[in-house]
Amino acid sequence: MKEKFLAIIAFLLIHCFSFSQPKIDFISQKTEKGVGIFANNPEYCPVSVKMTFKLTNMIATTGNQEIFVVPAKTNNYLIAELQKASDNSIYKYSYKFQSNFGDITLQEYDTAYEYDLPFEKGSSCKLWQGYFGSFSHQTERALDFSMPDGSNIVAARDGVVVSVVQSNTQSCPNKSCLKYNNFVNVYHSDGTFVSYCHIQFQGSKVKVGDKVKQGDVIALSGHSGFTSGSHLHFACFLPGLTERRTVETYFKIDDGSEVSNLQEGETYFKNY
Ligand SMILES: [Zn+2]
Repeated sequence: MKEKFLAIIAFLLIHCFSFSQPKIDFISQKTEKGVGIFANNPEYCPVSVKMTFKLTNMIATTGNQEIFVVPAKTNNYLIAELQKASDNSIYKYSYKFQSNFGDITLQEYDTAYEYDLPFEKGSSCKLWQGYFGSFSHQTERALDFSMPDGSNIVAARDGVVVSVVQSNTQSCPNKSCLKYNNFVNVYHSDGTFVSYCHIQFQGSKVKVGDKVKQGDVIALSGHSGFTSGSHLHFACFLPGLTERRTVETYFKIDDGSEVSNLQEGETYFKNY
């Protein structure tokens, strides 16, 4: 018999450029020796979970393991079996968890991948803020491409859309407006993500679960959230439990035969 287990959700400090919370849930199922804790992950990428068990007269078969990675679109994934330490005593268990999109144990990714510039063929954009830029990227390897409102943003790499937020209408040039960012987040085959941020209100051209190809138009640029004007904030990152690790990326420029590590203040042309 399956029973829904009431879990204590530990609310996280959410980085606004990041995600909404994954829709993972848990089910407990009685077993011969105790109870199994299973996870359902309806998301289109793995979800990492930190489980903290509180056990009375029970032991977890997973020992002290705390981090579990539940594969994408998977139901009844066994997290741990909690076994009775002895038959004759009262046993109890409870747990709390934190979760985030992606595999937070990932250490390696495709560092040499050649990204497409995230705008349309035949156009150019100035990179007005680069990695660790002084306006808002002090702690981020993120790139800001100047783009007028309503410009087509195209996928820089194949992937699957895992988050879309496009309901915000406000913006301002300070952190109080982080919560108003609209964005599309895409998950890649090597476990990285890209966040395409500050898109227009209702400016997404994709929905969660859509597979996107390099060059597909995925959103319209805007100036939602923490920004002083219309641009695309592009951040590639490895996921963490409560924060992400942004990484540098290389882009094909001009006719696509040259690859560049983009520099703040430079204007880049895309003709491929
Ligand atoms: Zn930015």
